[in-house]
Amino acid sequence: MRRKLVVGNWKMHGSRLANAELLAALLAARPFAADVAVCAPAVFLSEVAASLAASDIRWGAQDVSAHEQGAYTGELSAAMLQEVGCRYTLVGHSERRAYHAESDQLVAQKAQAALAKGVTPIVCVGETLAEREAGQTDAVVKRQLSAVIHQLAHCAAEMVVAYEPVWAIGTGRTASPEQAQAVHAVLRAQLQAATGRGDSMKILYGGSVKADNAATLFAQADIDGGLIGGASLKAADFIAICRAAQ
Ligand code: PEP
Repeated sequence: MRRKLVVGNWKMHGSRLANAELLAALLAARPFAADVAVCAPAVFLSEVAASLAASDIRWGAQDVSAHEQGAYTGELSAAMLQEVGCRYTLVGHSERRAYHAESDQLVAQKAQAALAKGVTPIVCVGETLAEREAGQTDAVVKRQLSAVIHQLAHCAAEMVVAYEPVWAIGTGRTASPEQAQAVHAVLRAQLQAATGRGDSMKILYGGSVKADNAATLFAQADIDGGLIGGASLKAADFIAICRAAQ
């Protein structure tokens, strides 16, 4: 039985005060039946780490450099994330693929850099609306995942995968539980074929998950929790979503 995982992606939101209030509410709402983590803006990670250190809530980054160190202005290395205690980092979020032109190959290299330092990459895959309407959903997500599987080789089973249809992110338009489950099943089969451990790997769903749709999504056989954007910024909503993950 896979334990569920709920991860908040704060994106470029938050402030010291807002973060402190959000984390205090989250800490007060424990215990959760699922594992819970928040991916904060990098500048806040040390403070988030201090707030959560004595708890079972984990924290992570939203991106990581593919490089170990060097002249890469503005980037953060996996070693730096490890040093501030990050358990996770997102890689390949669709906003980074779209606005920073991140290729499948670069995403794969980032996942490898994270794993090499013991930071679990949460690898985001997902199709655009045009790709879905062209019947390309399975091919797109399999291509995106395949690049990472190939790069990680024998370590591929260590990643977490997040299926995030681009058309559902921040739009209020959620994939139906059946649509999401169908893609998760495809991804799990691919992971199983590549690693032999697909049955124990976590595949999260992300895309307008809210307090009122989380339980139905999380009840699907291959959905192991969620990657939550907008709703992770509102304590009551995020707590309700965490509670929906049993
Ligand atoms: C995300 O950014 O990963 C996400 C799923 O956003 P939202 O929940 O706001 O759709």
